[in-house]
Amino acid sequence: MNLKKLFSVFCLFSTSYCMTVGQSSVERSNELAANHKIQQAEEASSKTTLTPTSKENPQNQGFEPNLNKRRMEIKIFVFNPFQENTYLISTPNKECLVIDPGCLESEEKNELANYIIQNGLTLKRVINTHLHLDHAFGCNFLAQKFGIQAEASQKDEPLLDRIKDYSTAFGLLSNAVESAKLGGYLKEGDVIELGELKFEVLENPGHSLGGLIFLERSEGVAFVGDSIFKGSIGRTDLPGGNHKQLIENLRKNILTLPKETVLYPGHGPSTTVDWERCHNPYLE
Ligand SMILES: [Zn+2]
Repeated sequence: MNLKKLFSVFCLFSTSYCMTVGQSSVERSNELAANHKIQQAEEASSKTTLTPTSKENPQNQGFEPNLNKRRMEIKIFVFNPFQENTYLISTPNKECLVIDPGCLESEEKNELANYIIQNGLTLKRVINTHLHLDHAFGCNFLAQKFGIQAEASQKDEPLLDRIKDYSTAFGLLSNAVESAKLGGYLKEGDVIELGELKFEVLENPGHSLGGLIFLERSEGVAFVGDSIFKGSIGRTDLPGGNHKQLIENLRKNILTLPKETVLYPGHGPSTTVDWERCHNPYLE
C-alpha cells in the first residue's frame, strides 16, 4: 500500500484526521503513521483492561487469580490497515462477546480465534456498532469458525452487502475481504446479556445511518464505535453521515452519562465522558 492510500484509509473514520490544512498527504501520512506507532506502543503495555467491581461473586473464584472481584475483562485487538479496535469482552464464567470484528488477514483472524480458544472462552454474541468495512472484515470468519453471526442495526446492512466494493474504493485489494450476513438486528432499547453484564443498545446515527453505542452502566463503560474519539468525532461525509445529527446524538447519549464513564472508540485510545466534555472541540 502506498502512502497516498494509507492516508485515505486513515481518513475513513475521523473528522479531524482529514482537516489538517497546508500539509501534503504524504507528510500527513508520515505523521499519522508515527502517531499510530506511539499509540500502539502505549496500547501494547495495557492492552487488556480490567474493570473492577465491588460485587463479590463466588463464580469468579478460579477464573484467574487476580480476577476475583471482576466481572468483565476487555481485550483490545488493533486490526487491519485502518487500525480498528476490535473488543473482546469476557466474563468470569468464560463467556465472551466480540464488538466490531475487524480482523482481515489470516494472521489477525487466527489471533482472535486463538485468544478465544486458548482462554477456554465460549463466544456468545458478535455485535457491531456499525458496519463500515474496517469494523466488519471479520464477521464472516467468526460465523464460519464459531457459528455466531454478527448483529447490527438493520439500517447499516447495505454496507455489509457492499463490503468488497467499498474495500476496492478505499484501495484495499486484499483477497481476504469477505461478505457476511447478519444474524439479527439491534435497535434502541435492546439489552445484550453476557453473564451478569447487560449492554444497553443506544441508537446513535450521524457517522453512519445505523450507528449504535453499547453501554454497560454497572461497569461504567460504553463502546462508541466511530461516533466519538479522544478529542475528535467521527467523519460525517460518507453516505448516511450527518454532522448536525451526530453532534446532537453525542450530546444526548454521551454527555448525559456519569462523567467517569469510560468510552471505548473504534480507533485510538479510550477516553472518558468528563475528558471529552472539557476537551473535545466538537462538543463545546
Ligand atoms: Zn466507521
